Amino acid sequence: MTPSQPEGIAYNMITDKAADEHFRMLASIIEYSEDAIISKDLNGIIKTWNRGAEKIFGYTEKEAVGNSITMLIPPDRQHEEQMILERIYRGEQVKHFETIRMTKDGKTIPISLTISPVKNNKGEVIGASKIARDMTEKVNLQQQLQVNAENLERLNSYKDEFIGIASHELKTPLTTIKAYLQLLERELQEEAHQEYITITLNHVDKLTRLVSELLDVSKIQAGKLAFNFSDFSFDQLLKEGIRAVQQTNQTHQVICDSRPLNIVIHADQHRLEQVIVNLLSNAIKYSPNSDKVIVHAIKEEETILVSVKDFGMGIPFSEQDKLFSRFFRVSGIDPNIQGLGMGLYISDEIIKGHKGKIWVESELGKGSVFYFRIPLY
Ligand code: ADP
Repeated sequence: MTPSQPEGIAYNMITDKAADEHFRMLASIIEYSEDAIISKDLNGIIKTWNRGAEKIFGYTEKEAVGNSITMLIPPDRQHEEQMILERIYRGEQVKHFETIRMTKDGKTIPISLTISPVKNNKGEVIGASKIARDMTEKVNLQQQLQVNAENLERLNSYKDEFIGIASHELKTPLTTIKAYLQLLERELQEEAHQEYITITLNHVDKLTRLVSELLDVSKIQAGKLAFNFSDFSFDQLLKEGIRAVQQTNQTHQVICDSRPLNIVIHADQHRLEQVIVNLLSNAIKYSPNSDKVIVHAIKEEETILVSVKDFGMGIPFSEQDKLFSRFFRVSGIDPNIQGLGMGLYISDEIIKGHKGKIWVESELGKGSVFYFRIPLY
C-alpha cells in the first residue's frame, strides 16, 4: 500500500460526501419548486413527480408515478405528446411551449412547458424532464390588461366625442353674444361704456378661440380635421395674420423683414392663417419683457419657409421635442401666462395636412424661432 492510498480514500470519501450533499440540495430544489418538475420515460410513463406538480395538477406522487403523461393532456391536444416525444428522441429541447393541460378535477389551465431530453451514461436519450409553469395568473393578468385597455380606449373616445359636441354647442351662443355686443358697441355713446364693451369683446374672442381649438383637437382625434384647398396670395395671407394679431396686441411690434413674395399658393387659407396667428400670439405671449417679434418668409425651390422669431424666455432643449404634443406646456412656466397646450399640436396637424414640416430652434433665456415649410402646391 503506498502512502498515498489512505489519503486517496479520505479524498474520495470527502468527494462522495460533497456529491451527496450536492445531490440532496438539487433534489430539495426540485422537490420544493413552485413549478411542476416531472420526468418520464420514452413511452410517456411518469417516473418522478414533485410537490409543484402536485399543487398544479392535483395528483399526488403516488397517483401520478407509473401513469401515462397523457392523463394531463386534454383530448384535443393529445397529438402534442407525439410531437414532443419526436423532438426529445432527436435530443432536442422544447422551450416555453405555451399550451393547455388538465388537472385531476378536469379543470384546464394555461401552462408554459420546457422539456429536455434525459440521457444515460452513453449519451442515449432514455426519457425527458418536464418543467411546467402555471400561467393562469399571467393569462388572467393579460386578459385584465386587455379589458382595461379596451375600456380606456372606449372612455377616451367618449371623452373626445363629448369635447367635440360640447365645443360645438358652446360656439353658437358665443357667436350670438358677440353679435349683440357689437350692436351695443355701435349704440353706446359714453366712452367708459365703450371700453367695457371692448374688454368684453376681447374676452369673448379669447373664449371663442379656446372653444374652436377644443373643437379642432377633437376633430384631429377623430381623424376628421378637414382642409379646404384653394389658390390665394401668400403675401395677403401673411398680412392678414399679422394684422389680426397686431389688432389685439399693442405690447409688441410684429415686424415682417422680408420682401413680398408675389406668389400664389394652393393651400387652406383659413388653416394657415390659424398657424401664423398661433405662432405670432405665442411669440408675444412668451416674451413679456420684449417688444418685438420678427416674421420672415422666403421661397426656396418649390416651397415657402416661414419663421417667427421672438426674444423671450426660450424653451429648454429637453422639452423641445414634446412641444407639438397635445396639451403639452413647458414645465415651470409662469402660471400667469395662460394656455392649454393645444395651439402647437393643432398647428403641427395643419402643417402635416399640407405635407409640410414645423419645428423650433430655441435658446433658454434668449428666445425662440419657430419655422414651418410647406410646398407651394
Ligand atoms: P399654449 O400657449 O396655449 O400653452 P401651445 O400649444 O401654443 O399652447 O404651446 C405649447 C407650449 O409651448 C406652451 O405652453 C409654452 O410652454 C411653449 N411655447 C410655445 N411657444 C413658445 C415661445 N414662443 N416661447 C417659449 N415657449 C413657447
